[in-house]
Amino acid sequence: MKVLMTEYLRIDLDDENWECRVCDHVVGPARGNYKEGLLVHHRDPADIHPPVIDRDKYRFTFCPDGDWVNILEFYCPNCGTQMEVEYALPGHAPLYDMEVDLDALKEQWSHREEMLEPSTGPDVSVDRHQHNH
Ligand SMILES: [Zn+2]
Repeated sequence: MKVLMTEYLRIDLDDENWECRVCDHVVGPARGNYKEGLLVHHRDPADIHPPVIDRDKYRFTFCPDGDWVNILEFYCPNCGTQMEVEYALPGHAPLYDMEVDLDALKEQWSHREEMLEPSTGPDVSVDRHQHNH
């Protein structure tokens, strides 16, 4: 059984791996950090947040200082889908943002049917024509 985790990641509970939801590429062990199996692009913060005032005249230009922030983009190595973007401290390892209790996940999903597409939940929209107070 496969469990959807994010828009682009899922876990295969049988072989205990992270997988890309776009191309089915096996990213890596689900008991570890999925980011270790992805490509990383270390972006120049000025590419994402260009200075809005003249760099030659002002020290602070609304562009993040590369000495204080790294922008890391993570991509599937097979299909190139961008899976995560992280603002990190220089020198700090990428965040371990999804440490999954795989045994608990297996127990939880042993009582459920596999979901191939995410649920959108119940329709709770208000019918304005029937609203009468
Ligand atoms: Zn992929």
